[in-house]
Amino acid sequence: MINVKNISKTFMVPHRVDALVDVSENIARGEVVVVIGPSGSGKSTFLRCLNRLETADKGKILIDGVDILHPKTDINKVRAEVGMVFQSFNLFPHKTVKNNVNLAQNVVRKRSSKEAEEITMALLDKVGIADKKNVYPDQLSGGQQQRVAIARALAMNPKAMLFDEPTSALDPEMIGEVLEVMKTLAKEGMTMAVVTHEMGFAREVADRVIFMDAGKIVEEGTPEHFFTNPSHDRTKLFLKQIL
Ligand code: ADP
Ligand code: MG
Repeated sequence: MINVKNISKTFMVPHRVDALVDVSENIARGEVVVVIGPSGSGKSTFLRCLNRLETADKGKILIDGVDILHPKTDINKVRAEVGMVFQSFNLFPHKTVKNNVNLAQNVVRKRSSKEAEEITMALLDKVGIADKKNVYPDQLSGGQQQRVAIARALAMNPKAMLFDEPTSALDPEMIGEVLEVMKTLAKEGMTMAVVTHEMGFAREVADRVIFMDAGKIVEEGTPEHFFTNPSHDRTKLFLKQIL
C-alpha cells in the first residue's frame, strides 16, 4: 500500500537539519506499523511526507501505486486517501462534532448532504460518540475530541491512516479509549503507521516496529524481536530509557 524509496528531507531554516536521510520502507495493505525513536529523529517528518504535508526533497513515494510526488498528482486526493491524526486534535472550533465530520465529504468525496450525514453518524457511532453530535469541540474531553478527529479522517474512506502521537496530549485516563478505537481499526484491516510511546499498543497491535534515529530507520522487526532481542545498541539504549 505504501512504498517509500530513498526519500530524504532537509530543512534549511532556522538551520540545516537532515530530518530524513535516504529512508526506504514498504507498508503492506492491512499492515500496522509502529514508529518509535527519540525526539527529533524524523518520525513526524516521515509520516508527513506520506501525505505530502511535507514534500520529500528526493526519492519516490507510491500510495497504492500512485506516485504522490509526481507534479500531476492531485495533492488533495492524496490527503483524502491518506488520513492523518495529530497529537493536537485540530478540530474546527466553530463547527459542531457532526459538522466537523461532514465537512469535507461533499467537496472531496462528492457526497450529498444526506449521504454524508449517514456516514458521519455511522462513524460517530463507531468511535463511541454519537450522543455528542451537536456539541462543539471545546465541550468535549481530549479523548472525545481525538475520537472525533479519527472519525473525520475515516469519513474520507482513506486507504491508509497515519497517527502522530495521537495520545500524547491526553490525560492518562483517556488514552485507553483512543487506543481502543485504533485497535478496532487495525483489526478491521486498515493500513496504519503509528508514532507512539505506548509500548503496550506496539506489543499488542503492531505487525512491525520501526526504530528511527537521526533521520534513518536503524532497526525494524516484529514487536517480539524488538522488545526481547533488539540488535542495535541505539535501539537497546532507547528501549532502556522508555521501558
Ligand atoms: P520527531 O517527530 O521524531 O520528534 P521531527 O520529524 O519532528 O522528529 O523532526 C526531525 C528534525 O527536523 C528535527 O531536528 C526538527 O527540529 C526538524 N524539523 C521538523 N520539521 C521542521 C520544519 N518544519 N522546519 C524546520 N525544521 C524542522
Ligand atoms: Mg514528532
